[in-house]
Amino acid sequence: LVSRKKKADDTVVTLKGESIGNGTPQFIFGPCAVESFEQVDAVAEQVKAKGLKLLRGGAYKPRTSPYDFQGLGLEGLQILKQAADKHDLAVISEIVNPAHIEEAAEYIDVIQIGARNMQNFELLKAAGASKKPVLLKRGLSATIDEFINAAEYIMAQGNDQIILCERGIRTYEKATRNTLDISAVPILKQETHLPVFVDVTHSTGRRDLLLPTAKAALAVGADGVMAEVHPDPAVALSDSAQQMNFEQFDHFWDAIQQYLGVH
Ligand code: PEP
Ligand code: MN
Repeated sequence: LVSRKKKADDTVVTLKGESIGNGTPQFIFGPCAVESFEQVDAVAEQVKAKGLKLLRGGAYKPRTSPYDFQGLGLEGLQILKQAADKHDLAVISEIVNPAHIEEAAEYIDVIQIGARNMQNFELLKAAGASKKPVLLKRGLSATIDEFINAAEYIMAQGNDQIILCERGIRTYEKATRNTLDISAVPILKQETHLPVFVDVTHSTGRRDLLLPTAKAALAVGADGVMAEVHPDPAVALSDSAQQMNFEQFDHFWDAIQQYLGVH
């Protein structure tokens, strides 16, 4: 169902009047994790000020260590919704448990399925049954074929509102947190009719690489870019090394606008 051979036209996902996958790049910004209303509200204000509509934030955080911050859960989703409503934004947040999907649907506009859950087939089926747009991230060590099959699980339940997100894969290279597989973007665009995003934060794990990799993503035809922004990354409860502060966010955004020829 996700194959280009089945449908030649690009699938467009519409959110808050913004079209994802229609040729104009879109951007998703927000903190790694929801920490407080004040924190999300401050980021939402910056996003809104740039004329953007899409806000991310993790409430259920799949952390490598059980002793790391696990997220605020349902309270995090409520905070996100409160901030998003205040600034008229659409919310994207990761759900890790099929049992949480129905409840989460009240608070979020896009269900994110994280890299660690790309082959959690019951979660994929539940996201497919929900009919909410889904942002599906590539698994840590997933091949492109496995990634496409994961999207197929969602679409097989009748939900075609899927955004694929390349977020880096595990390789021997240690200079970056993961290795951004930039060629996955044109391959996914050729093989499927779905919009393709690139998450520059988790693929690189390096603040200094966010801008060049975002430009690379746009150059190879990505439908959009995701990056993390935090009011004070130094004290962030997760991903402290790669989130942008507001000044860096402004610089990143100006450079992207210039790259896209808006100014
Ligand atoms: C995230 O986007 O918050 C995240 C945890 O990313 P990934 O699943 O790609 O590691
Ligand atoms: Mn993160």
